[in-house]
Amino acid sequence: MKNTLKYLLISILTFSCLLSGCESSDDSRDISPELLLGSGNPDPDSTNPDQVVDTDPMAPSRLHGWVRQLTEFQPRWAGYPEEHKATQWLAQRLENAGLDTRIEPYTFRQWDLKDWEVHLIEDGMPVEMKSFPMWSTHEGDGTAELVDVGFGTELELLARDISGKAVVVTGRALLNVFATYPSTYHRAAELGAVAMFVTSDAPDNLIRPTSSGQNMLDDNPIPAFQMGAQDLARMRQAARNGDSVSWRLDARHKDGTTHDVIGHLPGSGALEGTILICAHYDAWFSGALDNATGVAGLIGLAEHFAALPVEERPRDMMFLGVTGHDAGFPYGGVTHWLTENEAFVPEVELFMNLDHLAAHGVEHLTTTGIIDMLGLVIERPGDEERALFTTTHPALMRTFLPYLLRYGLLAAPLPTVPELNANNDLEGAMGKLGVPSVNLTMATPHYHTVQDTADRIPAKQLSRAVKAHRDFLSDIIGMTREQIRSPL
Ligand SMILES: [Zn+2]
Repeated sequence: MKNTLKYLLISILTFSCLLSGCESSDDSRDISPELLLGSGNPDPDSTNPDQVVDTDPMAPSRLHGWVRQLTEFQPRWAGYPEEHKATQWLAQRLENAGLDTRIEPYTFRQWDLKDWEVHLIEDGMPVEMKSFPMWSTHEGDGTAELVDVGFGTELELLARDISGKAVVVTGRALLNVFATYPSTYHRAAELGAVAMFVTSDAPDNLIRPTSSGQNMLDDNPIPAFQMGAQDLARMRQAARNGDSVSWRLDARHKDGTTHDVIGHLPGSGALEGTILICAHYDAWFSGALDNATGVAGLIGLAEHFAALPVEERPRDMMFLGVTGHDAGFPYGGVTHWLTENEAFVPEVELFMNLDHLAAHGVEHLTTTGIIDMLGLVIERPGDEERALFTTTHPALMRTFLPYLLRYGLLAAPLPTVPELNANNDLEGAMGKLGVPSVNLTMATPHYHTVQDTADRIPAKQLSRAVKAHRDFLSDIIGMTREQIRSPL
């Protein structure tokens, strides 16, 4: 199964590389030394960031303005103060667009992170290391000898005695998304490890938290920390030298409150059912690509469709903002909405997840050695490679593809939802219930890191992406249920 996934991912990558040569280059730039070093990435499209002045919902400056505004609230962890501010902000934007909007609070198991620290003990001297806790892992402190377990596979974990030890795991993220160590944490703990330190493939020494479907909340067994690639390489060297590490993680689970934001836009009633458009608005840090771009799309589409005469909207639309997709996986996303709306699901004619809409193409060269230490990042001309995930309803791909061409957004077509999708708690969950679902997405080496910032988002590309979604929706909204779900 794992191998099948690997080959599929490689073929997706190859296919999208082939396609990316044809893409529009309206916002491509030269490669500068700063970009090669992976530092600042100013975008000439976003020189007027603080004001949203253009009133066209699809205007690059307007859409980028939403990205800029939402990223001011950070980190947007579910249940935390900045996420609550983002809730109010999003509800206000949908309300202003003319939607009948409400905020729905609900209780969930929140991880209350207070403080943490990690010290490598080299030759008896403690050296503080940059780290970020693996979300929802167990509180505690301790000191233990380091053991390098490579990629943290079953064989590597069994090859050494890790009982009472702190394991160092070289994590990877296929296509920047799919973590290579989904079961390492629990397996290492079962075998007696007392702490885990892992990296996940971001450039330079950036720390990239990832979410795992193996999150058992209160029952997660040991503390674990994410680290940058350079620091992890130092930890591996320390393990070879027989050095130790000490850690402290002050965090616990409690009942917290987070919110769905739900905006209704009634149609003329000529067609039954509802189009459901969704974006998660939580984020690891500033979360520009992930997912202020999707939220900007949500607002832009709400404004566009709300401004149409009602006869041009033959059926109802619903615009949904959700949280807990990043810090809180796999319990967030549409999970709460689905528990409240089970009876409504058969009326959903289309689920569109807006996630990661625009970024410049960037390649992070990664291996397991010196290249990682260098943190080489190369910018490619054109957009980051996209994938278009859909359920197996052919009408979705057939309707979307012409607009991808028109707006220069070529993507690898993947009618694989829910067997393979980017988000199990979003389009995956809806696809599982038989709802026709689409998700046009991408991921860059900087996503999930503190450098996923608004200045990296090309405003014109964002506008192209939202327009493609708009045109696709304009076609779908007039199609009958049978046309959308037709097997032909
Ligand atoms: Zn996302």
